[in-house]
Amino acid sequence: MRPLPFFPPAAFEQEREATLEMIRRIGLDPAQRFVLGPAVTELEEEISRETGARYAIACATGSSALALALAAVGVEPGAEVVVPAFGCQPIAGMVVGLGGVPVFADVDPRTLVLDPAAAETAVTSRTTAVVPTHIFATMADMPAFRTMAHDRGLTLVEDAAVAYGAALDGKAAGRWGDAGVFSHAQFKPLGGIGEGGVVVTDDDGVAARCRASRDGDRPDGWSGGMDEMTARFLLRRRRGFTARMRRKAEIARRYTDAFAPLVEAGLLTLPAAEPAPGRFCHVYALLTDRRDDLAAHLREQGIGTHVYYPVPLPRQPAFARFAGRARFPNAEAVGNRNLAIPVWPGLDDEDVDRIIAAVKGFFASAVREQPR
Ligand SMILES: *Cc1c(COP(=O)(O)O)cnc(C)c1O
Repeated sequence: MRPLPFFPPAAFEQEREATLEMIRRIGLDPAQRFVLGPAVTELEEEISRETGARYAIACATGSSALALALAAVGVEPGAEVVVPAFGCQPIAGMVVGLGGVPVFADVDPRTLVLDPAAAETAVTSRTTAVVPTHIFATMADMPAFRTMAHDRGLTLVEDAAVAYGAALDGKAAGRWGDAGVFSHAQFKPLGGIGEGGVVVTDDDGVAARCRASRDGDRPDGWSGGMDEMTARFLLRRRRGFTARMRRKAEIARRYTDAFAPLVEAGLLTLPAAEPAPGRFCHVYALLTDRRDDLAAHLREQGIGTHVYYPVPLPRQPAFARFAGRARFPNAEAVGNRNLAIPVWPGLDDEDVDRIIAAVKGFFASAVREQPR
């Protein structure tokens, strides 16, 4: 049986020839422009057109895109920024990097995205911005966050790092706030050959500030332009993107159907099905108290898994001083219970059946073993 790792093996094998040719062309171009050249401009134009944003600013990473956006909307030393307690480090780290104060709020226990009610209670007179983050397969409740930002006079930075291509109520992810951020790193939805990020916005000032800072107009000399190889690769990689996402959604639907009867055995699936509004399929995660045993069981059968964000941000040493006494029971629970299973588009139906059978097998024996 072939191993089924969590991250897709040889993800870019089909693009090998084209990629080598692209690198050769950039390398031999008399302009010798390796960073922020014509391919970057073309990618920015394409993403603008695709999302309907007036401006797209391509930079080195999703994290730097977040930092550019936060700085551009006015996050400066002492400013508070409301961020989710469950998620990856850059969400809070980029705030700290600007001298700001991340204020954590808990997430919804089922969709894992920032809970608008929890975010609202975290707002103080020092709050500058709120950063809803789309996670795994669900967009945050952007209409609610828009209303909150409007009513409380906050700026809204939409972390759509993993939601490129998703939409809610007909409006693209990334387009709901004062600025939106995408990551095009290797294991994000579009998937580049390395790192890459994009800020989208309609605001002239925000765009101008992002562009200036990206191009090095900063006292600390920081600059973070996207390179030409990444941009050229991403332009190419957009072909087939919809089909890959559709295949992932199809696999997710099969998982959700197959695992529905396991709720009694203590397994919960995330609501991952398309075409519900605001749903996409980047990561398919299971929630169970027996997460580590399930992971070991799947590993024995050659199936890779991944645990996302086991330690909530406010409990990490880098951010503990910002956490205060607040508690984040949902972020804790999800950190302890989530187990993501493979959902890459190259899985065929047989692979998917094998993964389903392995998960079901674990819970069948688990039910038998439990004393009644
Ligand atoms: C990956 C990610 C980032 C950072 O993007 P990089 O390209 O890895 O720097 C920010 N926010 C979220 C939600 C992410 O998943």
